[in-house]
Amino acid sequence: MKAVLDHVGIAVKDLSAALAFYRDAFGLEVEAPEEVTSQRVRAHFVPVGESKLELLEATASESAIARYVDKRGPGLHHITLRVDDIDAAVGQLRSRGVRMIDEHPRPGAEGSTIAFVHPSSAHGVLIELKQPASANQSALRDPPPAISRFTLGELELISLSDGFLRMDGGLMFGIVPKAQWSVAAPADARNRVTLGMRPLIVRGARTMIIDAGLGRKGDAAFEDAYGVDHRYDLDRALADARLAPEDIDIVLASHLHFDHAGGFTVRDVSGRLRPRFPRAQYIVRRGEWEDATHVHSQNTARYQADDYRPLAEAGVLQLVDDDATIMPGVRVKRTGGHSTHHQVVMIESGGKSAAFAADLIPTTKHVTESWIPALDLYPMDTLAVKRAFNEDAVAREVLVFFYHDPSVAAGYIREEHGSRLVIPA
Ligand SMILES: [Zn+2]
Ligand SMILES: [Zn+2]
Repeated sequence: MKAVLDHVGIAVKDLSAALAFYRDAFGLEVEAPEEVTSQRVRAHFVPVGESKLELLEATASESAIARYVDKRGPGLHHITLRVDDIDAAVGQLRSRGVRMIDEHPRPGAEGSTIAFVHPSSAHGVLIELKQPASANQSALRDPPPAISRFTLGELELISLSDGFLRMDGGLMFGIVPKAQWSVAAPADARNRVTLGMRPLIVRGARTMIIDAGLGRKGDAAFEDAYGVDHRYDLDRALADARLAPEDIDIVLASHLHFDHAGGFTVRDVSGRLRPRFPRAQYIVRRGEWEDATHVHSQNTARYQADDYRPLAEAGVLQLVDDDATIMPGVRVKRTGGHSTHHQVVMIESGGKSAAFAADLIPTTKHVTESWIPALDLYPMDTLAVKRAFNEDAVAREVLVFFYHDPSVAAGYIREEHGSRLVIPA
């Protein structure tokens, strides 16, 4: 955590007199006032260089500021430290045994998120942590563009963002100790890491989309459990790419987990589920379909029948048995590992190669061969297939698309000093 002094809070009895003092005695400028209703105080910010003074006057006798002034008289009340990821910051403090007034971050002024540290754990100082509104929804400071375009021979490839979700870090990194993975992917207070969701458009003889994100069928409890962040949305990304759902001819599934197939269906105004892409044929590997429609205790949490059953009912489902060419230049290849019939998509045109790695290599961090999600059903299969995939990708300079990476849409895998890394494209 890197904290920056945001402001110093000062409790005052007479706000106008205090403001006049700072303005006249120090020549400071006074910003417009803001009423923080939940705290029953009037707050005025006075900028001093990079930080501010916050003058606080109670507007109700039962407010915390009124009680403070009654007990100790006016004076220094709190300091506020600004952080990029307040969930991670609070998690870090709690893991160190620091006593928090707010065990979980809560809404503050101007769309910020705040949490107070108890003075007994901070050498007598009341410390407020604050994450400003702009960086609120995920740990990403510079969110990547919603779409990224690539040309591969005759084909156009467009990576689209359907937003972000949060997944348990242990589940995502398997045998890798948290001390290691949390450096690469910081965890929030609930031990979750931020993942992107990036369906891929392939435009050639026909227009195809590979996987379709999370969709919008989840209820509030689901969205909370997975920290769903809708700043990006597949419909908006499609529009940015000048495409409509009607333009899609083929929807190809890497597998049917809800974070890939959730966007296959939508609920219409009458509440009925229907295919999201009205003209498309949906192509699913038969073994994956069988698994998704006959779940067991180890895979049931990842499948939601509402994502794919309506496709069969609407007659738009096409099952393929083996590795096959889906359209010119686009071929599926079974990997197993993550799910028994999980597949990647190999794309070739004009002597150039690309691959949609799906959950074989969900993020750029997962190019390291031992970094395999704990949720993979057969991790040793993942290991063997990933090793071969990496070798091929390095040798043939394959442009690899990373479905779950929060900031890198695609890149080239390189080998340096015996370890793998990704050069973003
Ligand atoms: Zn999956
Ligand atoms: Zn996934």
